[in-house]
Amino acid sequence: MDPHDSPEEAAFRAEARSFLTAHAKPLPSTALAMSAIVAEWSADEEAQRLAEAKTWQRTKFDAGWAGIAWPTVYGGRAGSVVEELIFKMEESEFDVPHDALVVGLGWCGPAVMQHGTAEQRDRFLRPLLSGDEVWCQLFSEPGAGSDLAGLNTKALRDGDEWVLTGQKVWTTFAHHADWGLCIARHDPSAAKHRGLTAFMVDMQTDGVEARPLRQMTDSANFNEVFLNDVRVPDHLRIGEVGDGWRVVISTFMWERFNAVGGSLRVIDALADLIRERGAAADAKVRQRYADIYSRAGALKYTFLRLMTALSQGRMPGPEGSVMKLAATDLLTDVFDLALAVMGGDAQGYGGDAPWEGEWHSGFLGTPGMRIGGGTDAVQRNIIGERVLGLPKDLRVDTDRPFSEIPTGA
Ligand SMILES: Cc1cc2nc3c(=O)[nH]c(=O)nc-3n(C[C@H](O)[C@H](O)[C@H](O)COP(=O)(O)OP(=O)(O)OC[C@H]3O[C@@H](n4cnc5c(N)ncnc54)[C@H](O)[C@@H]3O)c2cc1C
Repeated sequence: MDPHDSPEEAAFRAEARSFLTAHAKPLPSTALAMSAIVAEWSADEEAQRLAEAKTWQRTKFDAGWAGIAWPTVYGGRAGSVVEELIFKMEESEFDVPHDALVVGLGWCGPAVMQHGTAEQRDRFLRPLLSGDEVWCQLFSEPGAGSDLAGLNTKALRDGDEWVLTGQKVWTTFAHHADWGLCIARHDPSAAKHRGLTAFMVDMQTDGVEARPLRQMTDSANFNEVFLNDVRVPDHLRIGEVGDGWRVVISTFMWERFNAVGGSLRVIDALADLIRERGAAADAKVRQRYADIYSRAGALKYTFLRLMTALSQGRMPGPEGSVMKLAATDLLTDVFDLALAVMGGDAQGYGGDAPWEGEWHSGFLGTPGMRIGGGTDAVQRNIIGERVLGLPKDLRVDTDRPFSEIPTGA
């Protein structure tokens, strides 16, 4: 029960909890529900966890608990976004795979729903929601991350097909993906945001090559992806020709919005860890925890504001940036304190280690969360410009044809 719930939301929460209790075990008290994005997994573990994530997604789908806010025609529940969030919060208390399918479910699915044709929605949304088809997001490139509109992958029209050529990078789970949501440049003579088009790429097509990249967590769950003359039928273009930037913006909005998820559970777990280690007697530890706890309270308040906006049919805009920035700042401090309290025990890795090594996974994984979905600096620019009304970042290339922008500008 959450004191902020309306009576209807409280009833929904109870129903969700009873489904979860019937189908999953509660998380052990010494587990954190770490997101798959920051997990420390070997290739074998990763394949196994992905299979488990698909099975869990199928269980929810068959019982009508996948896609709470998705239309029933695609296997969803036609509930509200607030209910979707309530379910996610409850789910974070259970020992089920967290976030392994988030790229498709949380980022690409909403983009297909918003920008796809009726045929595309019919073809793609059910298998995505049931976990049968895994998606990845082919946006970033070696020379285009924060300045994504400067991307170079080319899309050349050839009759009823497009030929995609270029390189993407940091593509989470591309090596497991069936489909990729890809942004490419169809018109280098247009201004850089306007010459982009979005495509759904079958990752098994000839010319698609995903090579995993190892992170400092020792996992290799993201990739560089080479697109070597990849042929994509025009019916897999998503949105109009030239609509690619709109697809990017809406995908990022959902990505930032999904960044917080169940991660606030870690605040309570940190208190347990401090008690378990007898560190509550240390005044500095208490002060650091009090700071974390009060910032978590402020974050919950931002989260509630966002939920209110969603329940009134307004889409989250810069609020997503505020939330992502505050959440990743907070998580950084949470894992710093956890490691300080654990001392040498934090070095342990895997099932035999205290807390199965999850505190140090979080410590090594959180810096990635500060980068993915737009870096901290980019979120600060958005907040400065769109919330505080500060002067805009200097941009000299917005209206020039892309082909006339010197490389690296
Ligand atoms: C864990 C993880 C998962 C990811 N998954 C995906 C994925 O699935 N698909 C995908 O397409 N991408 C993915 N990414 C890539 C991510 O979106 C980019 O790394 C991110 O947008 C930053 O781009 P960049 O790495 O090119 O850094 P750059 O843009 O080169 O930034 C370098 C530095 O310059 C700063 N900077 C840049 N521009 C500005 C500015 N205007 N003002 C102030 N500072 C600035 C940045 O903050 C940063 O510190 C992932 C990244 C991570 C870490």
